[in-house]
Amino acid sequence: MTERKRFLIVKCPRCQGYQIVDSRNKSKTCSQCSRRFEIIDLAVIASARDAREARTVVAELKMPRTTASEPKVI
Ligand SMILES: [Zn+2]
Repeated sequence: MTERKRFLIVKCPRCQGYQIVDSRNKSKTCSQCSRRFEIIDLAVIASARDAREARTVVAELKMPRTTASEPKVI
């Protein structure tokens, strides 16, 4: 079995809120504005193996000071 990321992080087209969706689902109702959208129509911002990892990714995305282009200091 190949390892597949099961959870996807997408952005609601209406309220721009980050949403965690199960990749096996075809549609999702926004938890913030109740808008229903097709997952396939949206750009996947990130993916995660489980719900916990997905929440961590969303928390990082919401942090205003963190930018994807910023080099990572180890
Ligand atoms: Zn929404």
